Amino acid sequence: MKVPQDARFRLQRSRYALRFTCEHCALFDTERETCAHGFPTDEHRASYYESEEVPVVFCKDFELE
Ligand code: SF4
Repeated sequence: MKVPQDARFRLQRSRYALRFTCEHCALFDTERETCAHGFPTDEHRASYYESEEVPVVFCKDFELE
């Protein structure tokens, strides 16, 4: 699911330390930097959100580590 990333989301992401990227997912293999379910990770990595222009892309398989 993709939703626009606005200033409010960025503020709340920081304030509440929201976890939604691969780096905080139980299915992420940190050594190989891959998803255990074989999904592409490009749009779910923390580095993707260094740009404020990209939409928020929630992964439906995300499992909080
Ligand atoms: S399930 Fe989604 S959030 Fe978790 S590692 Fe795979 S791509 Fe990333």
